[in-house]
This record gives sequence, C-alpha cells and structure tokens, in this order.
Amino acid sequence: MPRESKKSKVARVTEFCHRMDALYGSEPSALDWRTPFQLVIAVLLSAQTTDAAVNAVTPKLFGRWPDAASMAQADVGEVAETIRRLGFFRTKSQHCVACAQMIMSEHGGEVPRTMEDLVRLPGVGRKTANIVLNKAFGIVEGIAVDTHVFRIAQRMGLTTASTPLAAEQDLLAVIPQELWGGVNSEWIRFGRATCTARLAKCEECPCEDLCPRRPVRHGAGQAKKRRRS
Ligand code: SF4
Repeated sequence: MPRESKKSKVARVTEFCHRMDALYGSEPSALDWRTPFQLVIAVLLSAQTTDAAVNAVTPKLFGRWPDAASMAQADVGEVAETIRRLGFFRTKSQHCVACAQMIMSEHGGEVPRTMEDLVRLPGVGRKTANIVLNKAFGIVEGIAVDTHVFRIAQRMGLTTASTPLAAEQDLLAVIPQELWGGVNSEWIRFGRATCTARLAKCEECPCEDLCPRRPVRHGAGQAKKRRRS
C-alpha cells in the first residue's frame, strides 16, 4: 500500500475532526467541577476510572475541601477515605493534598496557567495539563491523548507511536491547531460509543470512508479468539 502523503492525511483528519465536532461538540464536560482547582483534582482522580465514578465522590470531596487552601491542610487518610471507591485511591489522595500544597506554596493559591508549571504539580502529567489549560482557561497548547484518543489515532493511521505521549506529537503535526481543543472530549465520546476498544462498530461509523479500517482486522481477530475459547 503506497505511503499516504501528509497533505492527504491532514485533509482526512481535518474532516474527521469536523464530523466529531458535529456529533459531540455541544455536549457538556463529563466531569463535574466549578473551579480550575476542582478540575485539576477531578481529572487527576479520573485516571484508570470512569467519569461517573469521579462525579460520585467529588460532591463530598469538594464539599469538605473546596479549594487549594483547604485541601492543602487536609489529612491524607481522610481524603483517601472519601475517595475510597476509586482505583488507586491512596496514591490519588496523596497527589490531591500535595498538589494543593504546591499550588498554595508556589502559585499563591491559583492553578498555574502554563504547561510547564502544571506538569510540575504532583500527579499531573501532560494529558491532565492539556485538559486543564483547555477547559479551565481556554488555552490550547496540545492534545490530551488518553487511551481512547490513542486507539483512534492508531486505527485511523495517524500514528505508529508506542505511547500516548509520542502519539500526541504525531497528532499535532497533522491536525490544524484550531481543532486541537475539541479532540480529547469528542474522540473519547466516539471511542466509547463507536470506535470501542474490543471491537470497533465500523458498520455504524460515520467516518468509515475516512478510516483505513485497520481495526476491523484487529476486531475480527478478537472475535475469532473469542469463538475459539
Ligand atoms: S471505521 Fe471503525 S476503526 Fe475506523 S474510526 Fe470508524 S469505528 Fe473506528
């Protein structure tokens, strides 16, 4: 199969982004938050768990520790108890308190607005920082690549990278900057509804004409494996 030109790839992914935007662009954030600090904490808690599970614990968490000032003083064990139903709750509770303490000691109680400062916060990686910059401050510096975005990028033939971090650079190279802001939330919804992890629902995909359909072979393989077992 001939190698696709960058021009063709850009045109293909641009159209894909426009269709994602038409499908999911008007949907509100799946995580509940009221301030940039609460968004940092909610995204931090959402690693390896669902947004619904996070939304179930944050009313109590933010009711007791609504801002960096109060969270910085919190007992880690009490925070852990409050978020106990989430995976990795012990590590996440340590990150919540340490993150609040750094925001208080180094940023005057305000969540920083730069990628450089955000990724220095405990528990905050580039993906979380991208989401916070975009949703809390309207700043778009990159694309938050989670497991759904990574999978779709691979299936769409947009990256051969082995990690989400490396895949972000491939996406930034072909997606026009004005479209970066919508990618994370819109592709995640698409990944949950249609381009699902185990078996992509290509037959109902609105972007089938834009996709090299690599995952169909992957999906068929999975189906065969299941039939054999
Ligand atoms: S055609 Fe299939 S693999 Fe490609 S984007 Fe659509 S659902 Fe995903």
